[in-house]
Amino acid sequence: MALDVGVIGVGMIGQEHIRRLDGGPGGSRVVAVADADAERAAAVAGQLPVAKALPTGEELIASDAVDAVVVTSWGPTHEPYVLAAVAAGKPVFCEKPLATTQESCRRIVEAEVAAGRRLVQVGFNRRYDPAHRALKQAVDGGAIGAPLLVHCAHRNASVPPHYTREMSIADTAIHEIDELRWLVGQEIVAAQVFTARKSSRGGQLQDPLLVLLEMADGVLVDVEVSVNIHYGYEIRCEVSGETGTVELAEPAPVTIRREGTVAGLVPADWRERFALSYDIELREWADTVAAARPPQGPSAWDGYVAQIVSDAALRSLSDGARVAIELPPRPDLYTPTATP
Ligand code: NAP
Repeated sequence: MALDVGVIGVGMIGQEHIRRLDGGPGGSRVVAVADADAERAAAVAGQLPVAKALPTGEELIASDAVDAVVVTSWGPTHEPYVLAAVAAGKPVFCEKPLATTQESCRRIVEAEVAAGRRLVQVGFNRRYDPAHRALKQAVDGGAIGAPLLVHCAHRNASVPPHYTREMSIADTAIHEIDELRWLVGQEIVAAQVFTARKSSRGGQLQDPLLVLLEMADGVLVDVEVSVNIHYGYEIRCEVSGETGTVELAEPAPVTIRREGTVAGLVPADWRERFALSYDIELREWADTVAAARPPQGPSAWDGYVAQIVSDAALRSLSDGARVAIELPPRPDLYTPTATP
């Protein structure tokens, strides 16, 4: 069956996802777009074979031409669109974060539970990255014995001027928060943030910082967040277990040896590093919803839990204290089946 998709928010990642979805997986086509910037929406629609620019996201969701919705507008605008899609009974892929407050995320979870079926998937793309999948396979397969410690780093060459101190956690480390729950298969029970000597390149930001996360089974995780590190974009993860370690390999496809040095290229940004993960993420989502099956990827519950942990880390960023995390009971709708 063809899947006709509407995309709300056609900025940077919205346009990337359109490129992947139009004429792509599951027989998907982009049939409608909407954006706060009507001219941008019209320009994007004009480059697509069958898409129309609609005046608002609400009209796009209500349109009979749209089978499924992709929300790629800015985070604070996600909640009303996701709620409207759930109310309309349409599958909705929402970029991370699901919403920017715990209360918003809880309302989405409650709406989906009331609808009685999974409709929402959140864009935590690490779960689709082949290297991260291989890492999880090694851990789950017992290659290093029981995992004990995890060391992560999330490094950006630079960030835009609107990037705030809080975004180091709420927009950046939130990827690790979801990744670790998925990788270790445990909930995060406490968070503490340590601030290092400030980089002279970071302006008013607290850059870098170190996030310490405690998992329910005692695994301890440290996450370096550096968002002005100049040399490139790099994601590191090493799991230390009872009998060995496993880590993400260098992302460079080749190693160059010349003039007494060995070098590999570092990706410039997330688009380059994670291109394949977005391809797989959207293909699996479109294939699943085109087959009228519930989405199997990160759920509204995962988005809600990530927000709770992110808020705990933000509290620690402001006062330096360890913050214990207690989750509300998980509704039966989100009992894990096969995870991607
Ligand atoms: P962006 O370039 O600013 O694009 C957002 C677009 O949404 C802009 O065209 C913006 O218009 C529009 N918009 C704002 N408010 C709207 C509303 N109420 N209704 C409809 N459209 C609205 O941002 P982006 O970098 O693409 O990020 C979008 C989302 O994707 C964010 O949630 C971000 O965290 C997420 N993201 C995820 C990843 C990942 O790795 N998974 C990577 C990048 C981004 P104006 O410019 O006129 O405001």
